[in-house]
Amino acid sequence: MKKGFIGDIGRYAVHDGPGIRTTVFFKGCSLHCPWCHNPEFISPKAEIAFYPRRCIGCGDCLSVCPEDALTGASPVWINRSLCTGCGLCAEECPAKALELVGRSYDLEELVEILLRDRLFYETSGGGVTLSGGEPTGQLDFIVSLLRRLQEEGIHTAIETNGFFPWDEFEAKCLDHLDLILFDVKIVDPDEHRRVIGVNNDLIQANLARLFAVRPEDVIARIPLIPGYTATEENIRRLSVLFQDLGVRCCSLLPYHPYGLSKAERIGRKQTGSLLENPMDRSELLQWQSFFTGMEIIDPYE
Ligand code: SF4
Ligand code: SF4
Repeated sequence: MKKGFIGDIGRYAVHDGPGIRTTVFFKGCSLHCPWCHNPEFISPKAEIAFYPRRCIGCGDCLSVCPEDALTGASPVWINRSLCTGCGLCAEECPAKALELVGRSYDLEELVEILLRDRLFYETSGGGVTLSGGEPTGQLDFIVSLLRRLQEEGIHTAIETNGFFPWDEFEAKCLDHLDLILFDVKIVDPDEHRRVIGVNNDLIQANLARLFAVRPEDVIARIPLIPGYTATEENIRRLSVLFQDLGVRCCSLLPYHPYGLSKAERIGRKQTGSLLENPMDRSELLQWQSFFTGMEIIDPYE
């Protein structure tokens, strides 16, 4: 049986679907949004996250690195072009300054972890959400996982970027999902390709297909990124698109600069002109006003 390659498992999540949930963050994403909130899950490979303030300069990590990728300074320096993500340094570090992001899980090992919070799911109307990265990038594994969760009576949700092969998704996966949180970003095709790196025709076609077959189980979401998705022209065009598709329920996610520091921890820098302050509620309400006639989920509730 194939294993799932997972970046993190977040317990007690309250913003990834109804009730109290456990969110499984899969590694690997087909898009390259410059503002990604989870840049540590974009690469399909294991990576080392480094927290320099925690480093006490003991040097314990240096001796275990088989690639000589660490340099002895305080804090240490990682040569990421040499690092293979083996994780030995993270196991050795007494200060938890190094953390391995990405490891394989057997299906039953993961199910056992997810079922630990069954009581919370049952009492709150919650369940398990697959996120990432992009979970549909590991389709066979998530189908097996969703099946097992369904057998256990657990509510299942997915957070997706919508860039997946429809026929395979519909045939294998859709029946095992109770809720689909579907992110839509930029309507203009050229701008979408320029900023995110792929065409948006597949994403928009998949959103239309989902609303055609399971309209009551889809929430269309827009990450509000000033200068990228949160421009008057783009939001107007998204509201027209949603009206045309018969979108009943949507959610606008206010910008937060989480990704900036998370990217630095894995040795990357988010490019583009991203703000350093989060979007405030009054601006969120302004953007929400474009979506009249639809149920709008409040991201703060
Ligand atoms: S993950 Fe492995 S290769 Fe990379 S720095 Fe740590 S010990 Fe070295
Ligand atoms: S083992 Fe941890 S605390 Fe010690 S030098 Fe390496 S990163 Fe710093």
